[in-house]
Amino acid sequence: MSGLHKTVGDLAIFGGKPAFAEALHVGRPNLGNRQRLLERINDILDSRWLTNHGRYVAEFERRVAEVTGVAHCVAICNGTVALEIAIRALNLRGEVIVPAFTFIATAHALQWQGIQPVFCDIDLLTHNLDPAQVERLITPRTTGIIGVHVWGRSCEVERLEDLARRHHLGLLFDAAHAFACSHHGRMMGSFGDAEVFSFHATKFANTFEGGAIVTNNSELAARIRLMKNFGFAGKDHVVCLGTNGKMSEVSAAMGLTALESLEEIIAVNRRNYELYRAGLAELPGIRLVAYDPAQKNNYQYIVLVVDSAEVGISRDDLVRILHAENVIARRYFYPGCHRMEPYRSCCPQDGASLARTDLLSQSVISLPTGTAVAPETVQAICGIVRLVVAHRREVQRRLEPRSSEGATAA
Ligand SMILES: *Cc1c(COP(=O)(O)O)cnc(C)c1O
Repeated sequence: MSGLHKTVGDLAIFGGKPAFAEALHVGRPNLGNRQRLLERINDILDSRWLTNHGRYVAEFERRVAEVTGVAHCVAICNGTVALEIAIRALNLRGEVIVPAFTFIATAHALQWQGIQPVFCDIDLLTHNLDPAQVERLITPRTTGIIGVHVWGRSCEVERLEDLARRHHLGLLFDAAHAFACSHHGRMMGSFGDAEVFSFHATKFANTFEGGAIVTNNSELAARIRLMKNFGFAGKDHVVCLGTNGKMSEVSAAMGLTALESLEEIIAVNRRNYELYRAGLAELPGIRLVAYDPAQKNNYQYIVLVVDSAEVGISRDDLVRILHAENVIARRYFYPGCHRMEPYRSCCPQDGASLARTDLLSQSVISLPTGTAVAPETVQAICGIVRLVVAHRREVQRRLEPRSSEGATAA
């Protein structure tokens, strides 16, 4: 890290030296105890049991069920396949209501199996599904709702459960962000018919690639276990259509190692969040997405909502300024799923009905955090943002010739 920038002219975008020598990416993996991981991997190699009902996957499933307080956990090779299997096991078809403000996999998991995602707008306070609009989007073809606990902050679970009950719909939660988070004091994982976690490398706890479906419904869990293993009910005995959704032993070993470090990872994320909160307090037009201290949070996402008009600098210009400093901030989620293919072409939706999704997706910036990000780094990033906001007119004036060239952030 070089010295802190003092004037607008020090900013790298205007020719100064970047604040960081190396790129700071969002979602650099949290690693647990390396020695414990290597011991487990050696044990796996010694046993020559690499996948298919191995003991590490079984132990990982037990531990995830314990952490989330759910009866059944089925480990899956990744979160997307976990969504696909959960959707199929719930027999969803026709139309399923999902937010457009999510990672594209939520929609793809439906479309991949010929189910139409019907995009619903969000609440600008929670960033999650607006239950009132969900209800208006229900048609005779609707079979389910998938809520996404964006940033690990819960959907309006009770209202969605009530809607699903009254309209006889399946209810699934994409809890990819929400492992080890709670809602009204209850751990996420036990809501709706089932919930899906992702343990991708960028997520709070990771298994390199991985995911899990958790549910309190024994019949559903049994169906999911068959489906993730080609429908095999025993040797040479296939009882239903299935796929290969199995998690490998090495992935489970990584997951078990992450679970041992859960509290440490949360503590670091929380420290970074508090530093960002202090460092960005009272900046006009910039708001840090807040976590309810009364709930369990994994604090994995540091998200700014930028009111460009109030700041006087566009979200995309702010991202470009940060990139020049080697802070690889992300526009996450941008654009909404309805603006990406195949949805943009195949099922264009009335833009007005997703106005809040569009507004939010044009305002968000995700910043680096996690165990790879030191306190001084967070303070330096806050310093850059504060400098830019304090001198926003000068920054804007200097940016103008470039902005008019139509450059956009990566
Ligand atoms: C990461 C993510 C997924 C996909 O999980 P993978 O394990 O990467 O397949 C799905 N939904 C959301 C909201 C995610 O963030």
